[in-house]
Amino acid sequence: MKNFAYSRADTVEGAVNLFSQHAHSKFLGGGTNLVDLMRENIEQPDALIDVTRLSPAGIPDAGIAELAGGGLSIAAAVRNSAVANHHLVRQRYPVLSQAILFGASGQIRNMATTGGNLMQRTRCYYFYDEAARCNKRRPGSGCDAIGGFNRMHAILGASEHCIATHPSDMCVALAALDAMVHVEGAGGKRTIPMNEFYRLPGDTPHLETNLKPDELIVAIHLPALTFAKNSRYRKVRDRASYAFALVSVAAALQIEDGTIRNVRLALGGVAHKPWRAYTAEQTLAGAKAGRDTFERAAGAELSEARGYGYNDFKIELAKRAIVGTLSELAEAGGTR
Ligand SMILES: Cc1cc2nc3c(=O)[nH]c(=O)nc-3n(C[C@H](O)[C@H](O)[C@H](O)COP(=O)(O)OP(=O)(O)OC[C@H]3O[C@@H](n4cnc5c(N)ncnc54)[C@H](O)[C@@H]3O)c2cc1C
Repeated sequence: MKNFAYSRADTVEGAVNLFSQHAHSKFLGGGTNLVDLMRENIEQPDALIDVTRLSPAGIPDAGIAELAGGGLSIAAAVRNSAVANHHLVRQRYPVLSQAILFGASGQIRNMATTGGNLMQRTRCYYFYDEAARCNKRRPGSGCDAIGGFNRMHAILGASEHCIATHPSDMCVALAALDAMVHVEGAGGKRTIPMNEFYRLPGDTPHLETNLKPDELIVAIHLPALTFAKNSRYRKVRDRASYAFALVSVAAALQIEDGTIRNVRLALGGVAHKPWRAYTAEQTLAGAKAGRDTFERAAGAELSEARGYGYNDFKIELAKRAIVGTLSELAEAGGTR
């Protein structure tokens, strides 16, 4: 591992100032992804700025606060376990709590931060293998996942330059819930909708988000969404625990008199970013709730999907995971 400078920031302003002092700085959350990448020489920062002590003004020590109107603010430094176990998250957004608890292990969730989870890198094997070609690691070098062993890889929104997927479970729930990402950098503060935060690979797969290099994630805001009480996360993976998603589904559903009044749906493990299933949502909204409708919506969402050989099975798997999750929600309390 290359030598690096380490500093701890106590304020957002301090973190942004420290960032500007080194040519290649990185913010450090729990380090559960970044330190692994540094050990493999894939990330080689000159300086690490520890941002685990930051708490935005107005948010108490726990880092999770109610917003006017019923939403929640979660500071970037809040650990994944604290978010998953917070009583308001469990009551109002069970899909978020479940998504986090389906990820990694207890020890990793105790270290990992909200900001770090958003910014974690792909788990594409070729990205981690310095002997392999990877446009994300070395732009212009090629992509060995295409034509290689690509069981984990993307079926939606991929490009001829990259078929990697975003690995986070938490972010799939945040995409379904229309979370807002609050960021701050030398140029000031701004808010980015979660569904505009990530980029598709196109011909620049090394650019994964729309965050500027000096910008720090400060907090995530969850809007009030009363029907999200009836929400769920389903994760399909090779092992029952400690494995990344092959396909996952985050969904919230409200049915009135047999008709779908509100629905939110996002997929994980299928694209370079958490995939908000807008096409399926359009098919579902106002339709009669039931298996036929759920199947039609899943088919519409996956109509543009493409497999790359080893991951062809994911197309059917994603459809079935959508139908299964919506059926469970319809039975569990989506109806009144
Ligand atoms: C063995 C293992 C299994 C795992 N399994 C799963 C799984 O099943 N599902 C899942 O979702 N995840 C899984 N993870 C990933 C884990 O969730 C991430 O490693 C973790 O969320 C990253 O959080 P962190 O705070 O440790 O980030 P770090 O490693 O500290 O940082 C990651 C990136 O985020 C940047 N960063 C950190 N904070 C900020 C901020 N405030 N603003 C801007 N940039 C920031 C860092 O500079 C770095 O680039 C697994 C990890 C491991 C090691």
